[in-house]
Order: sequence, then C-alpha cells, then structure tokens
Amino acid sequence: MTETVETPAVTRIPHWIGGRRSESGSGRSGPVFNPATGRQSGAVDFATVEEVDAAVQAAQAAFGGWRETSLAKRAELFFGIRELIHARRDEVAEILVREHGKVFSDALGEVTRGLEVVEYCCGIPQLLKGEHSEQVSTGIDVHSIRQPLGVVAGITPFNFPAMVPMWMWAPAIACGNTFVLKPSEKDPSASLWTAELLQEAGLPDGVFNVVMGDKVAVDAILQHPDIAAVSFVGSTPIARYVYEQSTATGKRCQALGGAKNHMIVLPDADIDSAADAAISAAYGSAGERCMAVSMVVAVGDVAEPLVAAIRDRIPQVNVGDGMDPASEMGPLVTAEHRDKVASYIENAPAEGATVVVDGRDGVPGEGFFLNPSLLDNVTPTMRAYADEIFGPVLGVTRVATYEEAVGLVNDSPYGNGVALFTRDGGVARRFQFEVDAGMVGINVPIPVPVAFYSFGGWGDSLFGDRHVYGPEAIDFYTRGKVVTTRWPDPATSKIDLGFPQTR
Ligand code: NAD
Repeated sequence: MTETVETPAVTRIPHWIGGRRSESGSGRSGPVFNPATGRQSGAVDFATVEEVDAAVQAAQAAFGGWRETSLAKRAELFFGIRELIHARRDEVAEILVREHGKVFSDALGEVTRGLEVVEYCCGIPQLLKGEHSEQVSTGIDVHSIRQPLGVVAGITPFNFPAMVPMWMWAPAIACGNTFVLKPSEKDPSASLWTAELLQEAGLPDGVFNVVMGDKVAVDAILQHPDIAAVSFVGSTPIARYVYEQSTATGKRCQALGGAKNHMIVLPDADIDSAADAAISAAYGSAGERCMAVSMVVAVGDVAEPLVAAIRDRIPQVNVGDGMDPASEMGPLVTAEHRDKVASYIENAPAEGATVVVDGRDGVPGEGFFLNPSLLDNVTPTMRAYADEIFGPVLGVTRVATYEEAVGLVNDSPYGNGVALFTRDGGVARRFQFEVDAGMVGINVPIPVPVAFYSFGGWGDSLFGDRHVYGPEAIDFYTRGKVVTTRWPDPATSKIDLGFPQTR
C-alpha cells in the first residue's frame, strides 16, 4: 500500500502590466505563507529590470489619455471604485487574513480606513481647484493650476497590504497620474485583487500596474528615468535608502519609515481606560502596526497599578487563526519575524528589564504565533527600548515627572505617533505644543488621521517633506503652474523694456 502525502496547492502570483496578468521570466520567486498554519500558499514572481520597464512603459502609454480624462469622469469612476471595494470588502479582507495573519475584523478595518482615502478622492474636482486673481495689473489676470507628474510609483510594506497602497494609488490616479505599485513580497495578492477590481470599475488599462519583486524591482524603479515620483512606506533603513536614491535621480520622493510610539500615562489618568488602550494599541494586529503603542511611559505612582491592570488583561486576549471569529490577535507574518520578536523577550532579563508576561509560553497551533508579552523596568539604553520590535511585546518605562516623559519622546530618533493619557486639559495643551511627533493622540492611543488630513511622522519616520493622503497627497502628486494673462487691448498697447511691474 502506498501512502499519499497531501501537499497544499501553491498559487503563482504574477505581475499586472497593461491591464493583464503577466508572468515573470526571471526564474526567481519568493514564498508566501499562511502565517496561521505556517504552510506555503503562494510563490510570488520577482521582476527583472526589463519587466519593471515594461510596467513603466505601459503606464507611460496610458498617461496621455488618462490626464485628458475630465474631472467629472474621474470622479464618477472613483465613486464606482468606492462602491465595488465596499461591496467586496469581505473578499479582500480574507486575502489579508490568509497572507498577513491579522484577524478578519482587523482586516475589514484596514479596508475601511483605506476606503476613506478613495472616498476623499471622489472629490477630486474640488481638490484640484486652482486660484484666480483678477486685475493684478491693468488688464492682467493670474490663475494657478495643478497638473499631474506623469508615471509615479509606490513601494509598500507587508503590514497593510490593501490600505497603504490605497493611500498612494487613489490620490495619484485621481490627480491624473499613472501608477506602478511594488507591493511587499510577503503578502502580494491584495494588489492583484485591486488591479482586477480597478479594471472592472472601468479604469483604462495601463493606468494601474503591479510589479512583484524584491530589491531588484525596487532599484529598477529608483533608477528609472521615466518615473517622476516615488512614495514609499516601510522600515527606516530602506526608507532612507529609497529617499536618497530617488532624489539623486531627480525624482520627487516621500519615504515613510519605522516608528517607536510612546504612550505617556500621567498620575491623574483613568487607569482602566489607559490599560484598555495600551492592550488594544500594543497587541492589535500582533503589534505589526507603525502606529502601535510599543512603550508605555508611566509617570509617578501610576506605574504599579497600571502594570498590574495591563498584566491582568493579557490573558483575556484571544490568540488564534484570523478566520476564527473568536480570535482577537493572529500570528506574526513569518517564522523569522516571530523569532526575532521573541529574541527581545529572551534578552530582556540580561539587559535588566523584568519579563512580566512571557508570550512564548502556550502559543497555539503550528503557525507563526507569539502571545502578548509585557516587559517592565525598560530603560532607554536597552535594545527593547531603542529598536522597533514590530510585534506583540509592550515595554513599560517608569519616570518621575511629565517633563522626563516628554524628554524621552523628544529624544527618540523616530517621531511617528505619540499619545498622552490625562484628565488635565492644560497639560494636554502644553503637550501638543512641545512634543516632537507628527501624529498626537490625547486619550487616543492610535491617532491615525482621518482621510481629509494627512498622515506622516517626523524624524526618522519620514524622509521628504510631504505626508501621505489628504491635502498633502494632492500637492505631492501634482505640480503647480501659474498663468499670467493679458488679452490685447489696442488702446493701452505700448513698448516697455522695463521689468514687469504691477503698480
Ligand atoms: P521593509 O522596509 O522591509 O519593506 C518595505 C518595502 O521595501 C517592501 O516592498 C520590500 O520589498 C522593499 N525592500 C525591503 N528590503 C529592501 C532593500 N534592501 N532594498 C530595496 N527595497 C527593499 O518593511 P516591512 O517589513 O515590509 O514593513 C514593516 C515596516 O514598515 C516597519 O518598520 C513599519 O514601522 C513600517 N511602516 C511604516 C509606516 C508609516 O506610516 N511610517 C506604515 C506602515 C509600516
């Protein structure tokens, strides 16, 4: 009798160029896993330089027609895209769960927050309005217009495989550009799903393209002479590299990097609310959020009761497969990442920190799981404090005063998100004035701005001078032109070799 071993199907994940799937000829690919089972579910193609060029050429060929498409038509198309994504949000949420690992409700939340950016872009006729000044000098009027850049590219991280691309392609395309997306190779299928949906909604072929790949694809984008701008979201070292390379080749660039977000809790804060917020913001999406709270800064005598309240809540967090409705926290994205995150718990005692809850104990199943972990007495010289751990490991630092707490935040090389928990309005007002971070929460642990504001950090969390989505995205994906007009009036016409004056 022969024994048959069932091997799960591995799906090939190709590029999307010029309106259709396009398989790579590179012979190179990367594995895609279901993090909840630990098994490989896909193999994503890795592009060659020529394949990136083919995507750029498709985008360039589509640019002329797309930029001439009226604002009314673009708005109508965006309303259609919005409806389709909304109607099929469960489909893409399931793709996110199966490749990223986050729980289904969280995946739906990701899609909804991304959709808000698409909704903002439905107002593109209003957003692209210029200004007009009549009679700046006798018989002379001036108006300003904003025009698209051409072919623009987006390079995105693994942790929001649908939302972060939406931050980029929606405003870029609404502004009249054509787009090449290089998604994370760890969970690429949401990008192909998006490409097919945009085609179904009626977006002309070539306006949105996807190249799958690794550093070869990224470098080909950064070096390509026909790409006018690059948006990047990912870790700080790669963000810095992308910014330096793209600006060196004359591109406009916004490169969002990593983070280490502090949540300061003052002695007057409500302990239960602060503990609930810390648990939600530290362990949601298994801590794989650039806006996750990774350090609680406990001020004065709040530390003992706060650490106890967080510790007591941890066993209530249900860890499991993201498709199980009972799960609140899923696995990490890969085995390597899980092991790296776990190493911070391993090394904490030697550094002098206290392991209050060790998430390596009792992990469920075969997947890349790590349970919520809590480290106390973490100090700024420790790796657990300085590094972006990007997993479900929350650290607590104890300080004596508010001033010390703000000093810690302002000394951090990152400046993405920060939160203050207090009942004192005066201190909160002072905090928002003096803290060095791009996104501030007052009794709000994850202050991701709504879509009609812009998202971005300070310091090593952002290279470039434009934040993503919202009004700053409209600026980023367009360039300004100012037109000065005089219609000939024979009655006032004369020769004047002087410099044009308005008075
Ligand atoms: P990452 O930097 O490893 O990868 C991001 C992108 O860069 C991917 O598309 C990847 O293929 C590419 N890349 C990776 N290594 C490269 C190299 N050597 N050369 C060229 N390209 C390379 O980031 P990640 O692990 O996918 O995502 C997690 C990181 O993203 C965290 O640091 C997180 O804080 C950050 N992030 C930041 C924000 C923000 O808004 N600031 C949002 C989400 C995620």
